[in-house]
Amino acid sequence: MADLEVPVLIVGGGGAGLTASMTLATLGVESLLVNSVPHTSVLPKAHVLNQRTMEIFTEVGVAPEIYRRTCPPENMKATGWYAGLAGPHDGYGRELGRLEAWGGG
Ligand SMILES: Cc1cc2nc3c(=O)[nH]c(=O)nc-3n(C[C@H](O)[C@H](O)[C@H](O)COP(=O)(O)OP(=O)(O)OC[C@H]3O[C@@H](n4cnc5c(N)ncnc54)[C@H](O)[C@@H]3O)c2cc1C
Repeated sequence: MADLEVPVLIVGGGGAGLTASMTLATLGVESLLVNSVPHTSVLPKAHVLNQRTMEIFTEVGVAPEIYRRTCPPENMKATGWYAGLAGPHDGYGRELGRLEAWGGG
């Protein structure tokens, strides 16, 4: 493989690396991102994003697409406790308690 020189080498294409890549691109700084696998995470790893994170994503222009794809706030407004999800007894599915959470209420 030929030598390659870049101003910035980003190793790892998770949230940190991808955000670094987008931020540098926004600032006009050339970079190369390398990742150990040719895809992003196969499982969701960021259901809740905080305000500071969304400010950065607004700056780099990806916030609208995140809002478009995200879980609607009304579907993410509480944590509930249940007697069970399924099983050989009549109690499963019975809600034991609920607390408003996650900022969607
Ligand atoms: C189930 C789950 C749910 C989560 N939910 C949330 C949430 O709701 N909100 C939230 O803010 N956070 C959440 N997190 C935490 C969040 O996902 C992590 O904090 C975040 O992914 C860390 O980002 P990172 O870029 O530092 O590392 P990672 O996302 O782990 O990315 C590292 C990347 O580097 C690559 N890599 C590793 N070694 C090498 C190497 N030697 N060479 C090249 N590439 C390499 C990996 O393949 C990977 O792509 C969750 C995590 C999990 C597991």
